[in-house]
Amino acid sequence: GKIRIGISACLLGEKVRYDGGHKHNRFLTDTLGIIFDFVPICPEVECGLPVPREAMHLEGDPAAPRLVVTSSGAELTAQLLEYCGVKIEKLRREELCGFILKARSPSCGISGVAVSNRKSAPRSGSGLFAAAVIRELPLLPVENEERLADPALRANFMERAIAIHNWQQFAK
Ligand code: SF4
Repeated sequence: GKIRIGISACLLGEKVRYDGGHKHNRFLTDTLGIIFDFVPICPEVECGLPVPREAMHLEGDPAAPRLVVTSSGAELTAQLLEYCGVKIEKLRREELCGFILKARSPSCGISGVAVSNRKSAPRSGSGLFAAAVIRELPLLPVENEERLADPALRANFMERAIAIHNWQQFAK
């Protein structure tokens, strides 16, 4: 079978973003889709938030940021983190070989996501779901769509995913 890769659903063209839009990445679906079987994930929708929804951002300590609604300051951290715990346990049984996550999202961004702070300039951190994936599934390659545009980074991601896929087949 094809190599199963978890992916931010908005990159596949699903209209799950806060503004009701998507971020369809044709290179991913039309080219990498030839060898990858994409398993769509939208942490914000799957944790119970609606489409459309208020814009949100990360705040506080970059090592353990809080997810808050930008306009009201309402806390979404506990809701998203609880979802992450349950979802990661399900994903362990999915035979995934890697993840492609949307850059700069407060949920999906793997690094370089702005974390605001009342006392200083914004620092950078990881989205809550991406951080959970990296911490809990450390053997799997995790990239964003922007880095995968780089041929060397793309080749590295694909090699690692293929190696994990081959190991899964061998171990059956
Ligand atoms: Fe959903 Fe992640 Fe895409 Fe945001 S970046 S719309 S949380 S899949």
